[in-house]
Amino acid sequence: MLATIEKSRVDWRVAPNLVDYDHVRASFDWSTARKSLAGLPGGGLNMAYEAVTRHVVEGKGERIALRLLGREQEVTDITFAALDAAACRFANVLETLGIGRGEVVFSLCGRVPPLYAAVLGTLKRGAVFCPLFSAFGPEPIRARMEIGRGAVLVTTRALFQRKVKGILDQLPGLRFVLLIDGGKDDEADRIRALPLLLAAAGDRYETVRTGPEDRALMHFTSGTTGRPKGAIHVHEAVVAHAVTARYALDLHDEDIFWCTADPGWVTGMSYGVIGPLVCGVTSIIDEMEFDADRWYSIIERQKVTVWYTAPTAIRMLMKVGTEIARKYDLASLRFLASVGEPLNPEAVVWSYHAFGRPFHDNWWQTETGGIMIANFAALPVKPGSMGKPLPGIDAAIVNRHPDGSVTVVAEPEVEGELALRAGWPSMFRGYLGEEERYRKCFADGWYLSGDLARRDSDGYYWFVGRSDDVIKTAGHLIGPFEVESALLEHPAVAEAAVIGKPDEVAGNTIKAFVALKAGYEASPELERELMAHARRRLGPAVAPREIAFRSNLPKTRSGKIMRRLLRARELGLPEGDISTLESDEK
Ligand code: ATP
Ligand code: MG
Repeated sequence: MLATIEKSRVDWRVAPNLVDYDHVRASFDWSTARKSLAGLPGGGLNMAYEAVTRHVVEGKGERIALRLLGREQEVTDITFAALDAAACRFANVLETLGIGRGEVVFSLCGRVPPLYAAVLGTLKRGAVFCPLFSAFGPEPIRARMEIGRGAVLVTTRALFQRKVKGILDQLPGLRFVLLIDGGKDDEADRIRALPLLLAAAGDRYETVRTGPEDRALMHFTSGTTGRPKGAIHVHEAVVAHAVTARYALDLHDEDIFWCTADPGWVTGMSYGVIGPLVCGVTSIIDEMEFDADRWYSIIERQKVTVWYTAPTAIRMLMKVGTEIARKYDLASLRFLASVGEPLNPEAVVWSYHAFGRPFHDNWWQTETGGIMIANFAALPVKPGSMGKPLPGIDAAIVNRHPDGSVTVVAEPEVEGELALRAGWPSMFRGYLGEEERYRKCFADGWYLSGDLARRDSDGYYWFVGRSDDVIKTAGHLIGPFEVESALLEHPAVAEAAVIGKPDEVAGNTIKAFVALKAGYEASPELERELMAHARRRLGPAVAPREIAFRSNLPKTRSGKIMRRLLRARELGLPEGDISTLESDEK
């Protein structure tokens, strides 16, 4: 295990929002946290009101809420007041079109200003928002809009032509398509030009009196383990967004915050839109995709203080090397956080050298709606650990039994399923159209995450693997993360994924797929060297028996390695749902 990274006041730069972890945890309760929100005048709770309107009412409307960066990094600033007005216009448009409370608005577009107005306007209208990733093809779009019962789709002319036009007939429930860049000539049948509608709409709107349990957002999971599920979230989730953005991301008033996730995924919504807005900070939104130079220059130019990204991006930054980072002045960075996949210890140590600050891994899921386990600004970081549960979150390692009951594992250092005591505000309230599947996620008052982990004696949680990806070999239960992390320590390795291959003797043998860093060539010698390295690090029982080189590993569009696809291809099995697959190389 790599050495723990201690923190000092110098590292803090400003006092973290959570300094005394044990004390805050002991005294925390969600109903008190709820009181820090405004609530709707006269009662009720609405996410968009907390995110924007509240700041305007409190006289902070002139602060910059969103700073959008175009292709050439040209800046479009949107203040809280302007965002609130834009949201009001969108809410008025929905009302004029007869879209009522609880109806569902989908989006299919990039990170452009109207998207943010649409999210917040939909919430103000009391309707439900479901973002889609713009790279989806027609069938994934159709399937999601059908099970989500989309009444409205907000998209662009180009995406409409390419992906939606051909499926319109199969979506009878879709009443309107609003084209972000549409004009008079585009209007026909269900298709409307959003700019014209917005121009005709008023910029004041009284937020619909939603309650904490009213539906607000729907998000499809990443599809890493199978067909994506549609998770339903309610307005009450905003309580968790506020608390977790302050505690786990350490957002302070003056921060310039950059969450690199697309709002098509839950991270891009909970922490790319709602959380930072509720905290009143400025969010950077880049229209473009990953590019190491571009990213560093954004941090430098925009003086980003808090940066929230994902292991895939961090591994890509590692792949291009630290020298590139050194070309930029990244001294504005105060706090670095990562989510989405296990963060290999090597990556934490690398960031500590490259930026003088470690990435703080945190763990959560589409279903949990917000960060549940995190490394905190004031606490030591143990590279490879996901950290400790947030205040208000009871986590445990549990064992499931065949009769459906669970027992909590009291001792530390035992592997089991990661569970959370049900009832936190951002917990999903259902899977779209899959009640039985939803019910099966709960037992004896616990939500069962489907991830395996262990807790150490300091209360830090360590990811082992998804229960579907864990490999049984020669009587051992092996989490892919451990093997992949060992491979990643080798200087040639940029990415690694391991799977189990059925074997008559061992039950399974381990096969690793490896992508190399620039400057390294695949060869039988390198394969032998990597195997020897893995055997030294892990012992012969756990080290891979086979290594295959790939220039790229298959990933979901949210950047998660799809081990199930590597496995299916290896074993000649059906590939299953690949609607979220991004890079593809057989
Ligand atoms: P699906 O449920 O459709 O298979 P998914 O689980 O990848 O997809 P998400 O909800 O986007 O969909 O991702 C949550 C999962 O991502 C977690 O259950 C976990 O397996 C993984 N994950 C997220 N953060 C971390 C982390 N810090 N360390 C390890 N794994 C993580
Ligand atoms: Mg999942």
